[in-house]
Amino acid sequence: MKFLLPVIFSALMLASTSGSAATPITQKSFGQLPDGRAVTLYTLTGPQGLVVEVMDYGATIVALRTPDRAGRAGDVAPGFTKLESYLTSSPYFGCTIGRFGNRIAHGRFTLDGKTYQLATNNSPGDVPCSLHGGNVGFDKVLWRATVDTAAARPTLRFEYTSKDGEEGYPGNLRVRLTYALTADNGLQLDYEATTDAPTPVNLTNHCYFNLKGEGQGEILDHELTLQASRYTPVNAGLIPVGGIQPVAGTPLDFTRPQRIGERIGAANEQLKLAGGYDHNFVLDRKGTGLELAATVYEPSSGRVMEVLTTEPGIQFYSGNFLDGTLAGKAGGKYLYRGAIALETQHFPDSVNQPDFPSTILRPGETYRSSTVYRFSTR
Ligand code: BGC
Repeated sequence: MKFLLPVIFSALMLASTSGSAATPITQKSFGQLPDGRAVTLYTLTGPQGLVVEVMDYGATIVALRTPDRAGRAGDVAPGFTKLESYLTSSPYFGCTIGRFGNRIAHGRFTLDGKTYQLATNNSPGDVPCSLHGGNVGFDKVLWRATVDTAAARPTLRFEYTSKDGEEGYPGNLRVRLTYALTADNGLQLDYEATTDAPTPVNLTNHCYFNLKGEGQGEILDHELTLQASRYTPVNAGLIPVGGIQPVAGTPLDFTRPQRIGERIGAANEQLKLAGGYDHNFVLDRKGTGLELAATVYEPSSGRVMEVLTTEPGIQFYSGNFLDGTLAGKAGGKYLYRGAIALETQHFPDSVNQPDFPSTILRPGETYRSSTVYRFSTR
């Protein structure tokens, strides 16, 4: 003990003089896939109370704990305690989405004169589409994980190579995704990808949030602000009809803070088609770096989440397909509208919409995308 004290003291000194405490990354088993491969759960612990658990299956956020205004930690990310539930019943809780996030109409697109047909794994309004990468998207594969403690901040790196023809997409796509905690209680996701043949790429994370705590009722009292004065209207298949429309004068106007439940039942064609909010908002961007896209405030806990991104769009989904049948980590049910997702992205169906920013990655280019979820209280 006598020898340990000076060591502890100098470690503390180091932490305080360097200005930021270390963010250790620990790991433990999270079970096995049916084919026997081991799944590992990593825990990232930040200096201001943010604790994030991520597993290598789907490079999935399994838990995200952050303090409320009284300093009590709460898990705000819906998910499951067991790997089996992720394999059988997950509505994309916390996972990485690829090769193409959101919908592609009829699962079909033409690139450089060749038409590609993907599996259609979703059909809102009885209109078939490819959703979130297809039958076995990036959410359903085991990623290779490396913990990098030599980086400026401890980083959890995931890599996955999607083979030419996988889920019908052309080109071998090499993807690298890093998770790191920021000094200001944020979780930063950085994506990079390269290809050996032209291919569409649109990567995102599908974390759901309930800032009261996962499984703690509806999200209708959450207050949302979106830095978006325009959106892409959809048809019954939730596919953009083409064109970009102003939100002004509609219940999709979140340019000022609004309770999500305030206008969700309004007589509005877009809300009816989507059964609530399930729309891509076009961000009012100033440049190309990380910019604020969304702010969510939950009055009872005081928790605030800000979403920053380099992407041009964000899908605001109000959990309209949750129905109370899934049970959460602490036993609470995931109710209809019991969580929201805010998916940073390029616009849905971009591959078929020449007026939208391109999602085509070509050999020699590097796809890059970053998103931060930052937590505080009010
Ligand atoms: C989509 C919803 C879809 C959900 C699946 C969201 O990204 O916008 O329409 O049902 O993902 O969990």
